[in-house]
Amino acid sequence: MTTEDHPFVCPTCAWRGTENELDCDYSLFGEYTEKTCPKCSTVLQTVRNYVTAEEAQQQADAGNAWLQQAISYRSRIEQSQLKSLDQFPELADRSELELVWECVNIPEEGRQESVWIIIRLSTGEPIWRERSYYGNQARFSEMKELLTLKYGDRFKSLERDCSDHLYTSLYWYGD
Ligand SMILES: [Zn+2]
Repeated sequence: MTTEDHPFVCPTCAWRGTENELDCDYSLFGEYTEKTCPKCSTVLQTVRNYVTAEEAQQQADAGNAWLQQAISYRSRIEQSQLKSLDQFPELADRSELELVWECVNIPEEGRQESVWIIIRLSTGEPIWRERSYYGNQARFSEMKELLTLKYGDRFKSLERDCSDHLYTSLYWYGD
């Protein structure tokens, strides 16, 4: 085992390994990434990502495993997002819509958290759900505009859920 083969050494727990073995937060794709020790989570490298989507795809195709995972993470979110106002239910029997925004973790296989935004009536009935980025305040504003386009004057409010849903706050602020 040479230093060249295992260039990363954790100062906290003395773990040694390669860049590909480090853990990282995929949701930071686009800004920067902290790569951490897989044993104790000490930050061992911070990488700024200046790559464009096209460059990222080229690097992923060339075998960059981290970018492959980051791209699939991002595309799963994009695929789940609203494409058309027709996807919202009509709710024709309701004259005033007071809606609630919450985020919940719906576990799936694999180690990445899978957090969804749920929009529901204040009475509880969900009307929309899509996957969430970490740090979703901008999506909240977009969603208000989309709800206004769909429901017009009937749309009265969208409020963040105030009960104890951890992910609603955690995913609001991002990092
Ligand atoms: Zn460590």
